[in-house]
Amino acid sequence: MSLVSIQAKDGSKVEFVMKDPCQGGVKDVYFSPDRSYVVAFFRKPLDFNGKDRLERLVSKYREGIFGNQGAEYWKNLFCWPEKIVEYNNMTGIVAPVYQPNFFFPPNTTLEGAEKEGKWFTSAKNFNRFVPETEKGNLLSYLRICINLSRAVRRLHAAGLAHSDLSYKNCLVDPSTGDACIIDIDGLVVPGLFAPDVLGTPDFMAPEVVATMKLDFKDPQRKFPCRETDQHALAILIYQYLFHRHPLRGSKVHSQDTEVQETLEMGEKALFIEHPTDSSNRYKIQKNDKDFLPWIDTNKLPYSIMGPYLKTLFNRAFIDGLHLPAKRPSADEWEEALVKTVDLLQPCSNNNCVKKWYVFDNSTKPVCPYCGTKFKGQLPVFDLYSSHDGKSFRPENHRLMIYNNQYLYPWHVLRNIFPNEKLTDNQKKPVAYFAFHKNQWILINQTLDSLFDVTNQKTIPTGSFVALTEGLQLLLSKDPSGRLVHVSLVKA
Ligand SMILES: [Zn+2]
Repeated sequence: MSLVSIQAKDGSKVEFVMKDPCQGGVKDVYFSPDRSYVVAFFRKPLDFNGKDRLERLVSKYREGIFGNQGAEYWKNLFCWPEKIVEYNNMTGIVAPVYQPNFFFPPNTTLEGAEKEGKWFTSAKNFNRFVPETEKGNLLSYLRICINLSRAVRRLHAAGLAHSDLSYKNCLVDPSTGDACIIDIDGLVVPGLFAPDVLGTPDFMAPEVVATMKLDFKDPQRKFPCRETDQHALAILIYQYLFHRHPLRGSKVHSQDTEVQETLEMGEKALFIEHPTDSSNRYKIQKNDKDFLPWIDTNKLPYSIMGPYLKTLFNRAFIDGLHLPAKRPSADEWEEALVKTVDLLQPCSNNNCVKKWYVFDNSTKPVCPYCGTKFKGQLPVFDLYSSHDGKSFRPENHRLMIYNNQYLYPWHVLRNIFPNEKLTDNQKKPVAYFAFHKNQWILINQTLDSLFDVTNQKTIPTGSFVALTEGLQLLLSKDPSGRLVHVSLVKA
C-alpha cells in the first residue's frame, strides 16, 4: 500500500492510497485511507479554462449552493468537489464518497455496484438484474424524481447548468427514495464556460443532436444549457416512472444506424405516446415479454401519473420537444411531483410491484400495475385557498386519504411548501386519518384552529371529526389557512 500525502491548493492536507484506481469516464479515482473522501485525477491535462472552472467550482459556485443555509441538505443531493490538488503534473479534485445506500447490498445479483440510474430506467435492466429488495415502489420513485428536480432547480437558480444530466450522473436508491447528482465538474456557466461534452445520447436535447454536425462557431449550432438540462430532466423523470424511454419507438427514419439515431433523437424526435401522431409507438415484439408491462404504453400510458405530471409531460415531449422555451422548469417538475404524492393510494394487493398508484379521479379506482380494484370508501380532500380569508378558490390540489395518512403543515397553510426550507417543526404531522367504526375520521393532533364550517364548531386538539360527503373544514384561521371540501368515493 502506498500512501500519498499532499497539500491541496487551499493548504489542507489530503491523503490517498495510490492503488487500484476506479476508472471513471475522464478521471482515475483513489480513496483516502479512511475512505471518507476520494481524490480523482483527470487523465488528460486540463487547459486554463478547465482549471479556472475547477477553481470556481470549489469556491464561488460551491459557496453559492452550500453557503448560506441548508448546507447539510444539499450535501445529500450533490456530490460536490471540495478541493483541488496537483500531483505529478496531474490535476485532481477531492470529493466526498457516495453514501453506502447508493451501492447494491451484499449477497445480491449486483453486489457492490453503484446504483446508477441505468439499472432502473430500462425495463430490461430493471426486470433482469435489480434484486427484489432494491426495486422500490411508486412512492420512492416519485421521491427520487422530487430530489433530482430540486437539485436541478438549485443549480439553475445559481445560474449554473449541469450540461450532462443522465442516468450515469445520478445515483438513486429506490429502496429509500434518495438521489444524488455526481460528476459535477462538467458544469456549464452560460457565457463563461462552454460544455466539455454534448451529453449522453438518450438525454441530449433534439436541437443539440440536430446541429451537432455544424461548425463549432456556426450561430445555428446549439450547446448544452439550462433548457437542455430541462429536456434531460424530463427524460429522467419519465424513465424512472415508466422504465422506458419516451422517444425510442418503432419509427424508422433510415437504415443507417447513425443516421437513424441522429434523426430519432434530433430533428425528427417524436414522443412515443403522442396523442395524435401514432407513427412512433413502441411495437411489442415476441422477445419483449420479459419486459412487460413497462413497455406497453396501452396498459401503462403516461396519463396514469395523474393530471399534474401529464400536463408537464405534454409540455416536455409534445409542445416543448422542439421548442426549448416551452419546456417545464425544474421548479415546475418539483411542484407537480409533490402534488402527485398527495394523489397516491396504497394498492391493497400485497404482491403489487409498485405498491401505490395515482388516483385517477374515477368512481371505480383500479391499480394500473396489478389490476386490483379499490373496494370501500375513499375520502378525497379538495384544497381551497384564500388571499383575504373570506373568499376561497380551488387550487387544483387534492389529497387522497388512506389509513394512517397524515396531514402536514404544507397542506394546512398555502405559504408553506415541502422543500429544503422546512423547519423541523414544519416537518411534523399535525393530524392523521383513520377508518374507525365504519367511518373515516380526521384526528386533530396539533391544529389550534381547526374549524368544521358545515356544523359551525371548533375541533379541539386531541379530538376527531367524521368525514362526511360535502363536509367543509377550515384547517387554520391563519390568513394563509386552507379550506377543504370533503367528498367520498364509494367503490
Ligand atoms: Zn397494484
